[in-house]
Amino acid sequence: MTEQVIILGTGPAGYTAAIYAARANLNPLVIEGDEPGGQLMLTTEVENFPGFPEGILGPDLMDAMKKQAERFGARFVFGQATRVDLSQRPFTVTVSDSDTYQAESLIISTGASAKLLEIPGEAELIGHGVSTCATCDGFFFKDKKVLVVGGGDSAMEEATFLTRYASEVTIVHRRDTLRASKVMQERARKNSKISWVMNVTPVEVVSENRRVSGLRVRDNRTGELMLLPADGVFVSIGHRPNTAFLAGQVETDAIGYIITKSDTTATSVEGVFACGDVADSRYRQAITAAGTGCRAAMDVERWLEARHHQESVTLV
Ligand code: NAP
Repeated sequence: MTEQVIILGTGPAGYTAAIYAARANLNPLVIEGDEPGGQLMLTTEVENFPGFPEGILGPDLMDAMKKQAERFGARFVFGQATRVDLSQRPFTVTVSDSDTYQAESLIISTGASAKLLEIPGEAELIGHGVSTCATCDGFFFKDKKVLVVGGGDSAMEEATFLTRYASEVTIVHRRDTLRASKVMQERARKNSKISWVMNVTPVEVVSENRRVSGLRVRDNRTGELMLLPADGVFVSIGHRPNTAFLAGQVETDAIGYIITKSDTTATSVEGVFACGDVADSRYRQAITAAGTGCRAAMDVERWLEARHHQESVTLV
């Protein structure tokens, strides 16, 4: 069976695309990914999504979006798109390296994942004191000392959140100025539990008995190494787009973000559209992702309509 459209990924972009595609009678099949709901499943309160004056929990928002898509007939398959063949239509999508699906068109909304420092000790201590998600793991650091690496909005947000549990939170940043917005910086600066170590480069996560005991950093001015003792290290240095499974079949920028044609969600492959964080290195907000999800579904609808029209003209 060939689907009219397959949607890959279920953040706000994928769910919104599914709602619009289902309401356009395209009967979309949605490949949920290994972490359905995406990055918002890892947040607590979302305060800037319009329509929720008191805020809404990220997982609740995602759950509501999924239910809304289901209400209009979107179908969901759990698993990750591990391979695609875009060399001919219908396109083929392989899920979890086993099941294959075919579709006339594709919407890629696979989002982005947390980046790591890639220093010794880090990978093996994930789950043993190293984390990329304060919301998920903060609870385990009650009355402990933690470090948050990064100088962007995420680092400010994670650090502020962690003060709910930790006794001490130190933000560790590689420059002496922050990238974070003024409002987020101020919120963190006003928090008496947060302290700062600036202008240092992390070089090693240090452990004792397979638990994090600190972070070794190099002072960028003096070159001196120092150890920052801590029970936890939260890495909050941004994200990378989830496009490896495309194996270069769709045009991306140097980092891997999908390039869309100006003012549309169309990619370099006809019939393949992209929306959300996977194609957006600039805004990366839930609301902008949802907006582009809507655009992708409308672009697919128009593209399929134009194709069917062309085929019927050819037949006559
Ligand atoms: P980001 O803005 O790209 O910041 C990443 C931070 O990590 C930067 O300070 C960067 O340092 C540092 N960094 C990157 N690689 C590093 C490495 N290898 N070692 C040490 N430090 C490293 O990422 P983000 O904070 O995740 O934010 C992403 C987007 O989401 C932004 O547009 C942000 O505004 C938005 N956001 C908004 C909110 C909110 O409004 N509630 C919350 C979170 C995120 P440099 O500064 O030196 O480059």
